[in-house]
Amino acid sequence: MAKWWEKGIQFECQGSGRCCVSRGEYGYVYLTLEDRRRFAKYFKITTRAFTKEFCEKEDGIWKLKEFKKSCRFLESKKCSVYEARPTQCRTWPFWPENMTPRAWDKEVRSYCPGVNKGRVWQAKEIQGLIRKQAKSEEKY
Ligand code: SF4
Repeated sequence: MAKWWEKGIQFECQGSGRCCVSRGEYGYVYLTLEDRRRFAKYFKITTRAFTKEFCEKEDGIWKLKEFKKSCRFLESKKCSVYEARPTQCRTWPFWPENMTPRAWDKEVRSYCPGVNKGRVWQAKEIQGLIRKQAKSEEKY
């Protein structure tokens, strides 16, 4: 069956920082080992030190700690660690769970000002990001 996004999706981050703010079930930044290594390199510390200082486990999955109302790295609506941001931040909004018409409307369109702005992401690119995110979730 053809995907609703087969002809692409227009999306461009507007820098609202809204995807870095807690709402409903969204209030976690999960981290793979690769994500923690990238962060450690960025902070010039060991992965172990980064994990100890910035991470905690919930249900066996590593996530950033101190995510209260928003991510601890969100400053003035901007990601202060953009270069080192984890996979889930890189693949937003093309997460597997967002890609039904209903979820897209509820979790993305109604919420994120980047929808219908800027460039059109082609189906191939979208598929690539969905896969990347799904693979990352397998490594949590
Ligand atoms: S790491 Fe950066 S992009 Fe990811 S939720 Fe935190 S502030 Fe947002």
